[in-house]
Amino acid sequence: MTDIIDKANEAAEIQLAHAIETAKARPHPHLIKGRCNYCGESVVDYFCDADCRDDYEREQKIKQLNGRG
Ligand SMILES: [Zn+2]
Repeated sequence: MTDIIDKANEAAEIQLAHAIETAKARPHPHLIKGRCNYCGESVVDYFCDADCRDDYEREQKIKQLNGRG
């Protein structure tokens, strides 16, 4: 019995570790690099600064809420 539980836990841990690795490798798969995804300014990364990132994330949350139902 414990063998089955151990195997299940192991599989879940591997899946979780894989998900974390994927998230690390691509923090924002839907974002464009090289341009601020909020205001469109030309930047090295994804956003000008934390303000643009926060505003973008807030906007995404609002869109998600509006899109629900
Ligand atoms: Zn910006």
